[in-house]
Amino acid sequence: MITFRTLASGSSGNASLLELDRSDGGVDRYLFDAGISPRRLTNCLADLHLGWRDLTGVLPSHFDRDHVHLNIPKTLAAHQVPTILERGQQKEAGQVGIPGNLMRFHEGTLDLSSETKLQTVRVPHDEHVCCAFVVEHRGLKFALATDLGNVPKAFLTVAEGADVLAIESNHCPELLASSGRPAFLIDRIAGSHGHLSNQQCVEAVQTISNNRSPNAIVLLHLSAECNHPHAIENLWRERLPHLLASLHIAPRNETAGPFRAGREASLF
Ligand SMILES: [Zn+2]
Repeated sequence: MITFRTLASGSSGNASLLELDRSDGGVDRYLFDAGISPRRLTNCLADLHLGWRDLTGVLPSHFDRDHVHLNIPKTLAAHQVPTILERGQQKEAGQVGIPGNLMRFHEGTLDLSSETKLQTVRVPHDEHVCCAFVVEHRGLKFALATDLGNVPKAFLTVAEGADVLAIESNHCPELLASSGRPAFLIDRIAGSHGHLSNQQCVEAVQTISNNRSPNAIVLLHLSAECNHPHAIENLWRERLPHLLASLHIAPRNETAGPFRAGREASLF
C-alpha cells in the first residue's frame, strides 16, 4: 500500500509525506519538500506518531524557502536524515546548507530500495533546477509535480496511470489577471517558468489519467489570492466530471489525507 498526506501546501510552505509498505512488514517514509519550520514539521510528524528518525529521506522539488525552510538543513543534520537529490540540485542544496555528507545523488532515476523506483523529471520554474517525482512501488505509482510553468511531456509519460497524483493547481487566470498585482509578477506567475493554472492542471490530469483513473488526485499550491475552490470545482465538473469523486484540495496550513492506493493490510 502507498499512503500520501500533505502537511502544508501553498506559497507560505509546502511539505508532504509518502509512506510505502514494504513486503517485510516495514514502512519507508519520504518527505517531499520541507518548507515549514522544523517545529511545525515535528508537530505534524508527532500527530502521526512519527519522529525525524522515522524518515527514510527528504526529496526537495527545489530550494525556494517555501519548499525548504531556512532552519530545515540544521534539523536534517541533527537527525541524520538523507536528502535525495537530482545531480543538478547539488549547488542550490549546498547554498541553503544541506549537509554534504547527507546528500544522496542520482541522475534522474534511482532504486530507493529493491521494491521502489524513483524517477524525476526537471520542470520549468524560475531559474531553479526544479524536479517532479514519480515513485513506483510494488505495482503502485505515485506522482507529484509542484511549481512548474508548464508540464513537460516527459512527466506526462512517466506519471501516466498514477494511482495517487499530487499536482499543482496554482491559479485561476481570470483571478490572477484581476488581482491588482504588478504586471511583471502576473507575467512571471502565468509564464512558462511560473506556476500551473487550473486549466493547465486539468489538461495534465486528463493525459495522465487517460487509461486509468487515480484513486486520489490532490491539488497542491493553490494561490490564496488568485484561486478559489469554486473555480476549480466548476472547471472539473465541466472537464473531468468522472474524477470529481477522487479530487482533493490540499489545505494551506493543516495535514490532509491519508490518500491511499493498494490493498489494505489484511485484517485478522
Ligand atoms: Zn512554491
